[in-house]
Amino acid sequence: MKNLRTVVEEKLPELPVVQYAWLGEEEIPFSERVREICRNECPRYGTSWSCPPGVGTVRECMERCAGFPGMFVFTTIAEVTDAADMEETLATRGAHEAVTKEIREIFEGEGCRTLALSADSCAICDRCAYPDAPCRHPERMLPCLESYGIIVPELAQKAGIEFMNGANIVTWFGVILFTE
Ligand code: SF4
Repeated sequence: MKNLRTVVEEKLPELPVVQYAWLGEEEIPFSERVREICRNECPRYGTSWSCPPGVGTVRECMERCAGFPGMFVFTTIAEVTDAADMEETLATRGAHEAVTKEIREIFEGEGCRTLALSADSCAICDRCAYPDAPCRHPERMLPCLESYGIIVPELAQKAGIEFMNGANIVTWFGVILFTE
């Protein structure tokens, strides 16, 4: 019988994954400092269940992740005409989220429980239900890596994955935490 890694890696060539790595959950670099950046610099702070403080404290996020010992980290890339144009950049995120969900399905198809984290704030609903009502699509919503207090450049370094892939190339990170 094939092990989980083999099953996942055999399916990866069908997906636009650029780089990937297998790590342990204990290798995730968490920091409260990331939250400060969210709070001070991101207009989505306090407006979505996928962002702080809606996702819980960094401690709560760490505890949630601790329930999933395995971690699969990967990137997809998208070429844009101007990486500083947030509208153009964010328009490429949907394709990355679709890949994240496809990879999550591979793990779940092998009987794993998963926790998937993706990039940037959830944009499924025109107007997020936060904070007046629960998330409308908790099974589809992918919290943002940074919202969990994860230092993505440090995670990339640990994984041996390029954090950036050149001018006007957007590099999107995704994480599937899993139990076997
Ligand atoms: S699915 Fe809707 S309610 Fe849930 S986090 Fe995303 S935008 Fe908000």
